[in-house]
Amino acid sequence: MGKIVALANQKGGVGKTTTCVNLAAALAAERQLVLLIDLDPQGNATVGCGVNPYKLDATVNDVLLERKLITDVMQSVPAGFDVVPSNSDLTESEVGLLSLPLREHRLLKSLSQQRGRYDYILIDCPPALNMLTVNALVAADSVLIPMQCEYYALEGLTALLGTVEKISKTANRRLHVEGILRTMFDPRTSLANQVSDQLLEHFKDKVYSTVIPRNVRLAEAPSHGLPGVIYDKTASGSVAYISLAKELIEKRSQELVKREAIVS
Ligand code: ATP
Ligand code: MG
Repeated sequence: MGKIVALANQKGGVGKTTTCVNLAAALAAERQLVLLIDLDPQGNATVGCGVNPYKLDATVNDVLLERKLITDVMQSVPAGFDVVPSNSDLTESEVGLLSLPLREHRLLKSLSQQRGRYDYILIDCPPALNMLTVNALVAADSVLIPMQCEYYALEGLTALLGTVEKISKTANRRLHVEGILRTMFDPRTSLANQVSDQLLEHFKDKVYSTVIPRNVRLAEAPSHGLPGVIYDKTASGSVAYISLAKELIEKRSQELVKREAIVS
């Protein structure tokens, strides 16, 4: 059974998409079968995987509105994983879903057949706690929260954790925090170190030991239509994402061992 992980943080520009695309490529490089779902009308993950958002016959929007099957929309990319692309058409779902029955469960429903085909399904969320993000959180097993170690970061985190808790008590009892990832980290600033210390103090082992450094190669990669880990696998940012993928795989195998111990 594949694990469905939503990458969410309603704060914009914290590294959700960069993490989603690079983690997908790094997991694929570790021989994991990966599906990436771009659930943001900005279509940044789509571009980052090398798919042209202006030349799409159908997108995740058609899946959510039940006009297409997810298998008709997904495509394989050279980085070694599959993508369900998005573009600005997705704003139609953002508004249109509000008046439809079971509006929060649309993505979950369309993913039910896919779970068995992949090891990881990663969902790139938009920078808002809207109906798209709610669909991601209802479909997901866990949420991975990328965050920059800045002054306002912790406030936003409280709101997000509140939403995760609410959904885990109602629409999706499986939902839990997968982990908190420190992104664009600059160890030379004392504020970044202070916020990082606070995170470790409050959230302990929920904070990944891998830290993603600020690294220009990661920012350059999307303009070449490639994840950073493929564009320049020796760059410090790429090395960090490969280490994050290994951390996720290790954690998952520990979870599976624990589950088996409980069952037997
Ligand atoms: P949005 O909320 O708009 O969806 P996001 O949370 O998905 O944004 P990204 O698009 O991944 O954030 O990153 C924001 C910007 O920061 C991008 O220009 C990206 O290239 C750059 N960036 C992300 N991570 C790094 C990094 N580790 N080092 C340098 N630049 C980075
Ligand atoms: Mg994004």
